[in-house]
Amino acid sequence: MGRRQTIDPRLRAEVIERWGDSCWLNMPGCTRKGEEDDHIVPFSHGGLDTVTNLRRACKHCNAMRQDRVLSGYGATLHALIGPPRADFTGYLAGRVGRDGIVVSFDSLVRDIYPWPEPPEAARQAAAMAWDGAYRSLARCGQPVDVWLVRTLPVTRRHPNMLGEWQALDYDVHVLDVPPDTTFGQPLTPGEERTARRWYALGISQRLVDARRAQRRERLQRLGLRTPTAAPARAAW
Ligand SMILES: [Zn+2]
Repeated sequence: MGRRQTIDPRLRAEVIERWGDSCWLNMPGCTRKGEEDDHIVPFSHGGLDTVTNLRRACKHCNAMRQDRVLSGYGATLHALIGPPRADFTGYLAGRVGRDGIVVSFDSLVRDIYPWPEPPEAARQAAAMAWDGAYRSLARCGQPVDVWLVRTLPVTRRHPNMLGEWQALDYDVHVLDVPPDTTFGQPLTPGEERTARRWYALGISQRLVDARRAQRRERLQRLGLRTPTAAPARAAW
């Protein structure tokens, strides 16, 4: 998308000297090799060919990123995940700002099928709507605040979406509901399947926070986060 021909070899040498030649993205499946020049602020958002705006990336990650922004360089992205029947709405209350955008899988299902026990067709349509909204907002160059809400951080297109979110430094919140609480409620067969998959993933806030701290450290070394961590708006 709006990919420009080539970077001046002298500029590339400067980028490598300043930031290193291993992949900055570290998406799931990263080969670590600096194979391509990647714009932090995408070229399509007016990102320039400068040492500040360029890092090296592997082919795999560059293709997987698809011009999604690093959180804060355009949209700021939050994600809220948890097992079925977790109190997503309660958690969001008071956390989403007045101008916040919320993309909730459950709300989309309810809009499409406002009756109990939505059929698979309605759930699939909601999944596609969620995915479309995500792809649009994840690339957004405006400083909007986005909350992505769903149960499993997994789609057909993104089998390890959580890993991708963390690579792009999303603010991930996990509703750590104990299995007894979830399975102690009357679940539909679909919810029960989803709940089993959720607990099999072994995701917890602690795990997510530990990975985030690691990622933040690396992003700081890459000049993309300041130690005090409020994601600065890109100034170039
Ligand atoms: Zn990579």
